[in-house]
Amino acid sequence: MSESPRTAENINPANTDDVFGIVRQATREEARAAVDAAAEAFRAWRNTPAPVRGKIVARAARLMEDHEEELSQLLTREEGKTLAESRGELQRSINVVDFCAGESRRMNGETIQSELPLNFAYTIKQPLGVVACVTPWNFPVAIPVWKIAPALVAGNTVVFKPASLTPGTAVRIVEVFEEAGIPPGVLNLILGSGSDAGDEIIGHPAVKAVSFTGSNSVGIRLYEQVSRRGGKVQCEMGGKNPVVVMEDADIDLAVESTAQGAFGSSGQRCTATSRAVVVNDIADEFVTRIAARAGSMRLGNGADPNTEVGPSVDKNQFKTVLQYIDIGREDGATLVCGGKQATGSALDKGYFVQPTVFDHVTPDMRIAREEIFGPVLSVLRVKNFDEAMQVANDCEYGLSSSIFSNDASRIFRFVDEIETGMIHINSPTTGGEAHIPFGGIKGTGIGDREQGSTALDFYTDLKVVYVDYTGRKREGNLY
Ligand code: NDP
Repeated sequence: MSESPRTAENINPANTDDVFGIVRQATREEARAAVDAAAEAFRAWRNTPAPVRGKIVARAARLMEDHEEELSQLLTREEGKTLAESRGELQRSINVVDFCAGESRRMNGETIQSELPLNFAYTIKQPLGVVACVTPWNFPVAIPVWKIAPALVAGNTVVFKPASLTPGTAVRIVEVFEEAGIPPGVLNLILGSGSDAGDEIIGHPAVKAVSFTGSNSVGIRLYEQVSRRGGKVQCEMGGKNPVVVMEDADIDLAVESTAQGAFGSSGQRCTATSRAVVVNDIADEFVTRIAARAGSMRLGNGADPNTEVGPSVDKNQFKTVLQYIDIGREDGATLVCGGKQATGSALDKGYFVQPTVFDHVTPDMRIAREEIFGPVLSVLRVKNFDEAMQVANDCEYGLSSSIFSNDASRIFRFVDEIETGMIHINSPTTGGEAHIPFGGIKGTGIGDREQGSTALDFYTDLKVVYVDYTGRKREGNLY
């Protein structure tokens, strides 16, 4: 491979003096070579029996367990989330890999009765070929493995293009799969910028499918580009996730869960709570208490066990969050707490933003409509349940939501009417389990759901086989 002169620094967002890696950026030529290597490795991998592929993937889960603490520490240093959050992400990742390994023994089709005598049909699932996995920085272990593991189990070969901000965890994931026994060429890592190396991968005609998680602006462009040449695309994109808090809610639970959802991982989860839609009767109490909770949160380096909220991932994200806080003020929302860069000896070298709550946000304001991806909560006050539903659904995104209420009929109406792919009842908008499908609707999601019973859908083609054992020319029924 030819040498690339471009490099990027890997910087700890909690302490920018901690530059712990220099990452060489792949060229377009190297990106093409990675796709070619994956194409060459496809036939042998596809012909490896699925349970044998699954066994190798299961070994990767055991190795992740062996390296769980090291990977968690690296994740915190690279992305900034707290160690507890990193350990949680590692556990989720191990569960996903285990689940997918098990699916290798269930790549079943169905047999179907025919309307003709001495005929039947059956279906088989087959891999697609070379698949590209393009991932964001906010779950730099879990999201890659919830794409790579099902892709490999299904018999595809993979080109993995992680976010430029999290190359260290990407390298370790690939090393773990290699150590588990994935043959050369089956899983290929390209570290480089999305608009350059990433663009080359997704434009390559040998890439049959692209599984993307990231922002809407990139995802929609990528969708257009790949689908135009007939490729298959799955996009999981942004969120603006609401909690609805009714007057009969357990207010302690609603406040604590909203704080977890809004400020955990510094608001950098796709499922983060960014809107609290609260009925007037309890809005004053809710706002007072959530502001107190936000103000009490301990910010710091995620490696410190006392830290509750880590930094924004980099300078750009940090500036974006502070800009949105300015926009909230200018648009007339009431800032009730936070609203500034967090400072103090342990914070001055990192990208820390105070957990922030805006009250009296109206649905037309930008902070009610656009994804901020920081520790900022917008409170929208409403008269009643019907208005709450209208406000909660007045949004281009449809990833996750939650309701706090003890009224069963309201809860089930919420489930019926809310326009999100995932719904939580009396719990935060965040979280998910490895064996349960994950993803959004409306502007958030395009294509098959990831994880759970749907994990392999995107990574397989379905063939239908008609079997006629009459031995005679067909008569009648010629449609
Ligand atoms: P981006 O959309 O900026 O980047 C995502 C990935 O796409 C990165 O690897 C990036 O590379 C790559 N990329 C960028 N441009 C191109 C291109 N032209 N061709 C190919 N690849 C490209 O998202 P972020 O990394 O900033 O992640 C945050 C976003 O992810 C948020 O909007 C969040 O909501 C969303 N997200 C959604 C989830 C869901 O399940 N719905 C889960 C987690 C996050 P590079 O880093 O080099 O630019």
